[in-house]
Amino acid sequence: MENKKNKIALVTGGSRGLGKEMALSLAKKGLDVVLTYHSKKEEAEVVVGEIEKLGQKAVAIQLNVAESSSFDSFFQNVTTVLKSTFNTDKFDFLVNNAGVGVHEGFLTTTEAQVDNMVNIHFKGAFFLTQKALAVMNDGGGIVNISSGLTRFSFPGYAAYASMKGAIETLSKYQAKELGERKIRVNIVAPGAIETDFGGGAVRDNEQLNQMIAAMTALGRVGLPDDIGSVVAFLCTDDAKWVNAQRIEVSGGMNL
Ligand code: NDP
Repeated sequence: MENKKNKIALVTGGSRGLGKEMALSLAKKGLDVVLTYHSKKEEAEVVVGEIEKLGQKAVAIQLNVAESSSFDSFFQNVTTVLKSTFNTDKFDFLVNNAGVGVHEGFLTTTEAQVDNMVNIHFKGAFFLTQKALAVMNDGGGIVNISSGLTRFSFPGYAAYASMKGAIETLSKYQAKELGERKIRVNIVAPGAIETDFGGGAVRDNEQLNQMIAAMTALGRVGLPDDIGSVVAFLCTDDAKWVNAQRIEVSGGMNL
């Protein structure tokens, strides 16, 4: 029993919000977790502590997904902790979750805002995954976090949602090309969820919260653990034949 190797998932943006719940849900399913944070090291260490209390191993590493030039040194750090903490040299699942949004009308969106969204949500996930594959075992998987905003439109999200659309297209190509390594690639597309995202508007703006609840079949806004459990499921053998799918987790928003 002692020597049985747990599967390991790497979750970007695991310090808060959806990524934190993904990390905890993965641990509840018996996976060990490498999670990343951008600026909130202390929050990330709290998540590490919670995972350890669940009986799994976890480590937090700093990462800026907008800076692809830093990915080589990031994966050197990953390799080091894989050896020191997990006594292995590869991990099994990558969850591309980290990111921030921008709320700006199409007509007034600036080039800098678009560049930021491209760097974080498309280029970041593209090259992080490319480099991750060198340290991933065959037979694992990738989960790319998209958004309900690729199926329906909401004014002010043209730049952000377009990048989520790009990651959905990329996911299909990844699934096709990585099938030979038995690596599954799926998309989880959350509806509006109560997190710090967008300045916490969905959680803190009562009027917006009620408006979203009213346009959702299940009659409320989403919570972080509505999403984490679905990501965790995709990283288990229960989902071994689920590949190249977009799973929307929105309680039935905008049907
Ligand atoms: P939060 O703002 O709650 O958390 C964002 C996380 O991403 C934090 O861990 C943060 O790290 C990390 N992060 C932010 N910028 C960077 C960066 N440049 N490089 C690396 N890490 C970064 O957001 P959510 O949890 O709500 O969002 C997570 C994902 O879910 C995003 O991809 C978002 O687009 C998507 N999503 C969210 C929805 C929502 O309504 N909340 C709906 C649909 C999709 P740190 O804590 O260190 O700052």
